[in-house]
Amino acid sequence: MAQLGTEADPVRVAIIGSGPTGFYATDHLFKQKDVVIEVDLFDRLPTPYGLVRLGVAPDHQKIKSVTKLFDRTASHPHFRFYGNVEFGKDITLADLREHYHQIIYTTGAQTDRRMGIPGEDLEGSHPATEFVAWYNGHPDYRNYIFDLSQEQAAVVGIGNVAMDVARILSRTPDELAQTDIADYALKQLSQSRIREVYILGRRGPAQAKFTNPEIKELGELEDADITVLPEEAELDPLSRTTLEANQDRATMKKLEIIQSYALRPPTGKKRKITLRFLVSPTELSGNEAGHVCSMRLVRNVLYATEAGTLRPKPTDNFESIPAGLVFRSVGYRGLPLPGVPFNDSWGVILNQKGRVLNPDTQEPMTGEYTAGWIKRGPTGVIGTNKPDALETVNCMMEDLGQDLTLAPSYPTAGAIETLVRERQPNFLSWADWLRLDELEIHRGKELGRPRLKFTAVEDMLAALGR
Ligand code: NAP
Repeated sequence: MAQLGTEADPVRVAIIGSGPTGFYATDHLFKQKDVVIEVDLFDRLPTPYGLVRLGVAPDHQKIKSVTKLFDRTASHPHFRFYGNVEFGKDITLADLREHYHQIIYTTGAQTDRRMGIPGEDLEGSHPATEFVAWYNGHPDYRNYIFDLSQEQAAVVGIGNVAMDVARILSRTPDELAQTDIADYALKQLSQSRIREVYILGRRGPAQAKFTNPEIKELGELEDADITVLPEEAELDPLSRTTLEANQDRATMKKLEIIQSYALRPPTGKKRKITLRFLVSPTELSGNEAGHVCSMRLVRNVLYATEAGTLRPKPTDNFESIPAGLVFRSVGYRGLPLPGVPFNDSWGVILNQKGRVLNPDTQEPMTGEYTAGWIKRGPTGVIGTNKPDALETVNCMMEDLGQDLTLAPSYPTAGAIETLVRERQPNFLSWADWLRLDELEIHRGKELGRPRLKFTAVEDMLAALGR
């Protein structure tokens, strides 16, 4: 028998989830010297790129250009894409163990965290993740309804997702039309009656999770003013002491931007963004129809934990703001995969440096690995997943060196293709995706847009003549 990792007997790797981490892991695998590796990348959606296509805001096209690197990786002769093939449904863990030496789970964080307050599930109150998926044309969310006839919206949380949501709610139809936002979302947002968008941070300006380019961008919108209450833009004594000690330049710049907004007079633009600090929602109230209409907020003060982190503590000072549309943007959360050990309290696959662990013994499970948000939680930017995937691939190569792999009965490209064809005849290959990509770009060009996305799976299949 040929030695594993040679042209005659390549190492066969299945990767579940074709977001950035799936591509980074593929790239690291293809860069291995002296070992021949074949990668099959599976995605439950027909389209690749995960959050780059369906999470990154449509008005951030530059960030999306990272797909050019992914395309280069995909052009490797040992790469195959199986789009529209769902793990746990079309293809099971048992199937993968029969066909691959190693498996990597890179499914990201597919759901949202909750606020845990009364009224959270009233009509008109949504996870930001659903709105993001909707405006980006995710097939599962394209029919969701967001009541844009309301005049006031509130976004809870001050991370970059909150920035994206507030910006998309505040952009003009002309601004949105220059993006690849889903066509139905463009239409509905163009008729939006939203006039005021509150963004609510539970801690102060120095603890804001948004990054400086994002908060700066919010002050540069064509037809929306931004305002911050002067007293909330000021640092509390604890934050001031911390900042004086660590002299963190990015935070200092952030404060400068926020404080400049507090000094800015309104210029009479159509919409207003009000950025608040040190407030937490305690309850959402509804009208007779059960639709959210206001939000009760408590004012917080900061205290230092033993570790020195500044956390919010409620006071007995309350207020209410009107809000007919609420988005909680308090972080993403990973979902378990059938048969894969999961740490429920952290929302990640149970792992050590990317090696999936057996929950009973805490020992690595042979041949199973993870990378990206489902490995470490929803933090960092797209590029953060590159070193993260490398850590995992290094573990895989170490294990391969010690012959610690699965022992598949059918480790060939032909065998898995036959199985996939049987289970999901409508799978998409990389060539199919390239064809769809070309069509989307062509349809967009006619409208002066970067692309016009297909958002329904049936439409994607029909466009491919299926
Ligand atoms: P995030 O950066 O973790 O921000 C979550 C926000 O929610 C924080 O402000 C957090 O406040 C707040 N929060 C959490 N629980 C809360 C509660 N119960 N009540 C009120 N507020 C609460 O998460 P994200 O915005 O979802 O972003 C996820 C990752 O994607 C981040 O790494 C982000 O930078 C990245 N991303 C980047 C871009 C970009 O580069 N343009 C765009 C989108 C996303 P505390 O800080 O007090 O916990």
